[in-house]
Amino acid sequence: MIYQQFRDLKLSSLGMGNMRLPLQNDEPGAPIDRIRAQEIIDFAMANGINYYDTAYLYHNGESEKFLGEALANYPRESYYLATKFFLLANPDYKAVFEEQLSRLKTDYIDFYLLHAVFDETFDRYMGEGSVEYFLEQQKLGRIKYLGFSFHGSEETLQKLVAARKWDFAQIMLNYYDWMTGKAKREYEILKEHNTPIIAMEPVRGGRLATLSPGAEAILKQAHPDWSLASWALRWIKRLPQVKVVLSGMSTLDQIKENIELFSDERVLTDEEEAIALSAAEVFQKQVLVPCTACRYCCDTCPAEINIPAMLELYNRYKLDGAWVLEDIDEIESTGKPKDCIACNVCVEHCPQSIDISGIMQELAAQIK
Ligand code: SF4
Ligand code: SF4
Repeated sequence: MIYQQFRDLKLSSLGMGNMRLPLQNDEPGAPIDRIRAQEIIDFAMANGINYYDTAYLYHNGESEKFLGEALANYPRESYYLATKFFLLANPDYKAVFEEQLSRLKTDYIDFYLLHAVFDETFDRYMGEGSVEYFLEQQKLGRIKYLGFSFHGSEETLQKLVAARKWDFAQIMLNYYDWMTGKAKREYEILKEHNTPIIAMEPVRGGRLATLSPGAEAILKQAHPDWSLASWALRWIKRLPQVKVVLSGMSTLDQIKENIELFSDERVLTDEEEAIALSAAEVFQKQVLVPCTACRYCCDTCPAEINIPAMLELYNRYKLDGAWVLEDIDEIESTGKPKDCIACNVCVEHCPQSIDISGIMQELAAQIK
C-alpha cells in the first residue's frame, strides 16, 4: 500500500468508503450483509488500508453502526475514522455527534466533515453554530481534523475556503469531471489554499467503469489488459494534493484489484493522461445531448414542455443514474416528457439537431 503524509500521519492512499457495503438482497434499503462486509473490512485492515469513511446517513445509519462493530477488535490507533454531519438530515449537531461516537464505539473521530456543503446549505452550515461546536470538540480532542465534503458551485467553494482554514476537504474527483473543468477548478482552489484533498467518486459512482463503446475502444487500444475502473483510479494517482482516494468497495474482488493498484507507485504518463481525457470527451459526445439552452425550440412545442430543462435532466440521468429523475417535479414545465406527441417541430428549430422526441420517449419510459 502506498501511504501519503498528512501532518504527522501516514494515510493509506486508498480509503475504504462505507456507503456501498454488500447487502443481503437487491431490494432498496436492504440490510447490510454483515458477514461479507466484515470480510471486506478484515481484508482492508490486513492489507494496509487505514482510512475508513462513513456518514450519519449511509445505509440509513447502519453504516456507522456496522463500522463501529467491524473495527471494534482492532486497536483504535491502527485506523482513522472519518464521518460526517448532514444538517438536512438532523440539524441537532450536538446530539448527532454524540450518537455517532456511540455508533462508532469510539471517543474521538479522526476526520470529521460537514457533509455535502452546497450553495443552498452554505449559509446554514456557517450560521447555525455547528462549526463553532465542532471546533470546541476539536480542542477537547474529540475531533482530530475538521473538514467538509463539497457538492456546490465554484463561488461557494471560494466562500467556504475564505471563511476559515480547514484541515482538509473532500471533493468529487475523476478524469471525466476534470475534462469538463469542474473538478480541476475545485482542485486548484484547494491547492491555492494549501488544503489537503480526500477524493471521492473516483469512478463516478461506477459510471466510468462502463463507458460508451467509442470511449472504451480508446482506452482498450492503449492498454487492453487494464479495466476501465482501473483507468480512473490510475489517473487520480497523478494528483499530489490528494491524500486519500475513497472507493466504496462492495466485493472482495474489487478491493483486491484496488489494493494492487494502490500498491504500485507508478502513475500515468502524460501521454496516458491525454488518452484518458480524450476518452472522456468521446464519452461526453456519445452519451450526452449537446443542448446549449438557446431556447429556440421552446415556443414551438404544442405540449409546452420545457425542453432544455428536460434535456439537462436527461444528461444528469445519463451520468448519475435513474435516481436523479426524481427531480422532475422541481422543473417548471407545463408538459412532461410523456406529453410529447413526437411532432418534431422542435427539431426543425434546433441548431444542434437533437432527437428531442426520442429523448422525451426515453425519459417518459423511465419516469414512473
Ligand atoms: S416533438 Fe415533443 S417536445 Fe418536440 S415540439 Fe413536438 S411535442 Fe414538443
Ligand atoms: S433548440 Fe436545441 S439546443 Fe436550443 S434549447 Fe432547444 S434543444 Fe437545446
